Amino acid sequence: MAESTAGRRVVLASHNKGKLAELRRILEPELPGIEVLGLDDIGDFAEPVEDQPTFEGNALLKARAAAKATGLLSLADDSGICVDALNGMPGVLSARWSGRPQEGDSRPVAERNNALLLDQLADVPDDRRGGEFRCAMALVTPSGAEVVEIGIMRGRVQRGPTGDGGFGYDPLFVAEGYDVSTAELSADDKDAISHRGKALRAMVPRLVALLA
Ligand code: IMP
Repeated sequence: MAESTAGRRVVLASHNKGKLAELRRILEPELPGIEVLGLDDIGDFAEPVEDQPTFEGNALLKARAAAKATGLLSLADDSGICVDALNGMPGVLSARWSGRPQEGDSRPVAERNNALLLDQLADVPDDRRGGEFRCAMALVTPSGAEVVEIGIMRGRVQRGPTGDGGFGYDPLFVAEGYDVSTAELSADDKDAISHRGKALRAMVPRLVALLA
């Protein structure tokens, strides 16, 4: 039986406009009339500290907090890059892999993260540069039911950045079956193969069932 939901509204526990747009693109055709809100739409909200050791744990933390604050069906994702030669790191530390900037270092954080990752892999041969982007997408209902879907995009870390699309580690990452980085793909092409796209699409039937 579907839960009662205030006017088929869903909240994504994120301020990221790109993620919100992607969620709307995927959900709206499946659930006409659905309203997808972001954290900027819901006013005061104390975001939890992402201190869990897994993507699943952090995604659940955020979705639970949003469901509690809004009384709405809540989605949250956590993602990062996991490099085989680094035993799966940076993993949940992807966003802040290079730590705080040194004094006088004005490079954007993504550029610092990418430079550090390239350094760490400098001596790693081409056939051992595999890795993946992982995304955990959590859905929490106002009554406390929880579901997590995982999306994975396998690929490899190339030896230098190419492309100026995407964000984060995209300029370094070449997805399996491609010979350009994910920063060189169109947004639609990346959505079709990305960890986040896969996790989101896996969540659609769950949402359809809950909102039907
Ligand atoms: P979050 O899930 O938005 O917190 O993302 C964590 C970090 O993982 C980002 O800051 C990026 O460094 C990295 N990341 C996650 N997904 C992607 C992606 O699709 N492309 C490039 N970097 C990503």
